[in-house]
Amino acid sequence: MVYWCLACNVPLVEARCGICGCEAVEVRLFRPEDPRPALETDTKILRETVEKQFGQQAFKRVIGNGVILLNRVPYADAGYEVVGDGLLLGHLFYDMRLLEWRFKPLRMGCMRLLEDGLMESVKVDQKPVKGQTLRLKKIDRGYVALRDDSGAVLGVAEQMDDGLKVLNVWKPISEVEPVRGGASIGDFLRANENAIRAEASRAAKTIYKVHGRFGGELVVSYSGGKDSLAVLSLTLEAGLEPKLLFTDTGIELPETVSNVQRVSSKFGVEALEAQAGEAFWRGLDSYGPPARGYRWCCKTCKLIPTLRLYKSRLSGRVLTVIGQRAAESKARRKRGSVWENYWITGSMNMTPIGGWSMLHVWLYLWMKKLEDLVNPLYFEGFDRIGCYT
Ligand code: SF4
Ligand SMILES: [Zn+2]
Repeated sequence: MVYWCLACNVPLVEARCGICGCEAVEVRLFRPEDPRPALETDTKILRETVEKQFGQQAFKRVIGNGVILLNRVPYADAGYEVVGDGLLLGHLFYDMRLLEWRFKPLRMGCMRLLEDGLMESVKVDQKPVKGQTLRLKKIDRGYVALRDDSGAVLGVAEQMDDGLKVLNVWKPISEVEPVRGGASIGDFLRANENAIRAEASRAAKTIYKVHGRFGGELVVSYSGGKDSLAVLSLTLEAGLEPKLLFTDTGIELPETVSNVQRVSSKFGVEALEAQAGEAFWRGLDSYGPPARGYRWCCKTCKLIPTLRLYKSRLSGRVLTVIGQRAAESKARRKRGSVWENYWITGSMNMTPIGGWSMLHVWLYLWMKKLEDLVNPLYFEGFDRIGCYT
């Protein structure tokens, strides 16, 4: 659940604002809700896209200059809900047809564009239905808002050659919410600091307790991503001395490989590296490229080298701390926070951040001033770091 303090204009991970103490409003997002703050490159892409489609002033008038959240939604390629001022303003997605980023305004996004005359609209006599084509030509290309008799906006359509294709419909709205004052990342952090501090302390205590009960060797599984950086920091906050385990699949991006070295030397943590070598390229000839539901290389390039390393470098029972979050997948939601490591007898895995969203992770990393240790790929528009295939 995400909240928004309308007085301070900042997103919150809890219902009460840490700056003004106000009760915040809930922001409903596409599930599983896993929003993240738009970073510099994301904001640049969003700005350029909105301005290209709706004109020079459009970004300022529609999105404003406050904190922007992006929440993944299904599209053929990348797609995000864009939330600003506590409102769903539209979708930013990569259009595979046109091979470019596009911004589809929704609800308040349409209202704000219409108010400034930056978007066309058309009156419809009947309630439009998603997927229907209205035989109308309003513009050459782009989005057109749909209005009812009273002028209220109730949907958005895309101009196609054969008419307006209705893409989204909603309850009619006629009031425009003005753009709120800008808030900085500093305000965003201040408003959430107490909540994040409490979450981090809970997470660190959990790691400490589980390790105390379980005993054995302690390992943090490190992928080069922000979630594993957060769990490494939490494990150190718990006063423990983990080893860091990284599996180089042989198809890692160079930024990831160098991030592992930087992080382990910065924290003075011993790094154990499992190497898959050429396994991916050897397997490619026989199995072909991996795909969703056909992840043969996860076994050959991740699991097998990791098990080999466990056997050669670790002994007895091992507790592995992993930065997995429930919002990432159904399987992860089902798993709980501590589970048996099926591959190594008597060993366990745990995640102390199962209930965190990307917002929690970013806030935690900012609060701990760890942004310099974050894999730079996140600042180039990646929201997950993985193998480059
Ligand atoms: S994450 Fe994808 S590319 Fe990487 S090893 Fe697993 S299946 Fe292969
Ligand atoms: Zn506030």
